Amino acid sequence: MRIDPHAHSSRSDGTDAPAALMVAAARAGLDVVGLTDHDTIAGWDEAADAVPGTGVSLLRGAEISCAADGITLHLLAYLFDPADAALAAALARVRDSRGERARRMVERLASDYPITWPDVVERAGDAVSVGRPHIADALVAAGSFPHRSAAFAGPLAAGSPYYVHHWALDPVEACALVRRAGGVPVAAHPRASRRQRRLVPDATFAAMAEAGLAALEVDHRDHDAAGRAAARALAAELELGMSGSSDYHGEGKPNRLGENLMPPDLLARIVDEGALPVVSA
Ligand code: AMP
Ligand code: ZN
Ligand code: FE
Ligand code: FE
Repeated sequence: MRIDPHAHSSRSDGTDAPAALMVAAARAGLDVVGLTDHDTIAGWDEAADAVPGTGVSLLRGAEISCAADGITLHLLAYLFDPADAALAAALARVRDSRGERARRMVERLASDYPITWPDVVERAGDAVSVGRPHIADALVAAGSFPHRSAAFAGPLAAGSPYYVHHWALDPVEACALVRRAGGVPVAAHPRASRRQRRLVPDATFAAMAEAGLAALEVDHRDHDAAGRAAARALAAELELGMSGSSDYHGEGKPNRLGENLMPPDLLARIVDEGALPVVSA
């Protein structure tokens, strides 16, 4: 079983529509793909409709934006009840704050770069969750940078004067919220020193484990060898499962579907504990 449990569609900052993601998953030889858009489930239905045609099973999820003492942490949440009011409200609050934050970043950028808010809205297309990648796309379209990564290395970087924070959930509360919604939380790229300078301390993951965290991503391209070893040791110490994923974003990033996988026994546990089934091919 080839399970890639963490991928993004154009409903957040991926470039493939949900149905196209399912086609790409079939081409990559996956049996199961996880659709985990940032702070939204807007792609679930379109992806589910593509299951019979592609023969790929769908693991429904989301990647929830969290922050602990100003340090960003992404929490994958699987198979939660989409009608749970508390979780839906939290996701809506992050999306609203993301939109506000993107506007403020564009206001700052517009002094020095030839972009406007309508440019970013156009680049965001059918996304319901706006992120820096959409601003990057507007900067690329304006000719200021050759690709998303160049814009991220420049004015979109976290330390840049153009950077603005958005509201995010406390990760321990988020684990409890996901569990109360019948979902299963897994920490995304917990030791991604390639993407952030400051990492969430081990103690926070211990508190998350108490609140229902099921696993840590270990195999992820944003982890270097030391990061993988640290994530593996931390998961062992906290008796958590170990996952792996591509974090595919379509053409927006080099990540390729299936480059890292989730072990089948972890998926079995997530299905066992989750409120929803996998949409099976
Ligand atoms: P945001 O969620 O708006 O803070 O933007 C962060 C998102 O941008 C993450 O989900 C990453 O997947 C994406 N991202 C980060 N670095 C890059 C990069 N160098 N190129 C393309 N996308 C990136
Ligand atoms: Zn992303
Ligand atoms: Fe992430
Ligand atoms: Fe992701």
